[in-house]
Amino acid sequence: ELAYYAGEFRDINEAVIPIDERGHQFGDGVYEFIRVYKGVPFSIERHLDRLERSAKAIFIELPVSRQELKDIIHQAMEKSTLKDADIYIQVTRGIAPRNHLFPDVPAQLALTIRHPRQTPEEAYEKGIFTLLLEDERWANCYIKSLNLLPNLLAKQAAASKGCKEAILVKDGYITEGSSSNVFAIKDNVLFTTPATRKILSGITRANVLECAQEQAIQIREQNMTPSFLKDADEVFITSTSVGLLPVSKIDEVELPTFRPVTVALKHAYSLRTAGTKAYQ
Ligand code: PMP
Repeated sequence: ELAYYAGEFRDINEAVIPIDERGHQFGDGVYEFIRVYKGVPFSIERHLDRLERSAKAIFIELPVSRQELKDIIHQAMEKSTLKDADIYIQVTRGIAPRNHLFPDVPAQLALTIRHPRQTPEEAYEKGIFTLLLEDERWANCYIKSLNLLPNLLAKQAAASKGCKEAILVKDGYITEGSSSNVFAIKDNVLFTTPATRKILSGITRANVLECAQEQAIQIREQNMTPSFLKDADEVFITSTSVGLLPVSKIDEVELPTFRPVTVALKHAYSLRTAGTKAYQ
């Protein structure tokens, strides 16, 4: 496990962030989270596309080119010797005396590479409990911003009630999970919230939608109400770290345990992560 900051690879526990780093003081930055499967950073182009979009949306100029960033990622993989890994990439507006106005300084890139966080097999078999909560976030959730406080509060509130994920509801409709996207299956049709400014357009979401297309599963990117979700045949969440994870309970409502569409899509997704070149 190791870190990269200020142009150098470092021990992951080294103290390197100056007190006036805007990521540290304001959460003034954006990030990405990439999973490496068997030496291949999965869907790296999509993640780097999204990093560029997020940075642009908050007027941060990336301090390295795309090729330079890829080189740093590959060096991190080599130096760590990890074949399966979690890579966290963060870009902040830089280091300058504390002031809300943007400083005229270069952006700062930070990266860590670690052993992948594993989800217990039991969660994939049994599904997870989830809690519906009000989505208290801002209007630009399509930006993968460092400001995650509402997401943390929601996840913690869910955990305090024995739930693994908070499913967020805004203006009467499901937006997404605190760190995942939400899908439902009803009468063999796959539903998911449309990728507007109100949600993060998940890379796993995009891959799962392509898997569904390949299997000729009907797709509707459409807003879902809480009662629609509770009445669904199957519900699952997606993210880079968990892949597809079935939901067995929403609030007090138990969902059916027979999940044929989820199983088929999870299988198709695992074939992608196992590394057919066409999907990298
Ligand atoms: N929504 C939110 C709010 C998230 O934090 C995440 C995880 N990064 C996702 C969705 C899933 O995105 P991805 O599939 O790209 O990991």
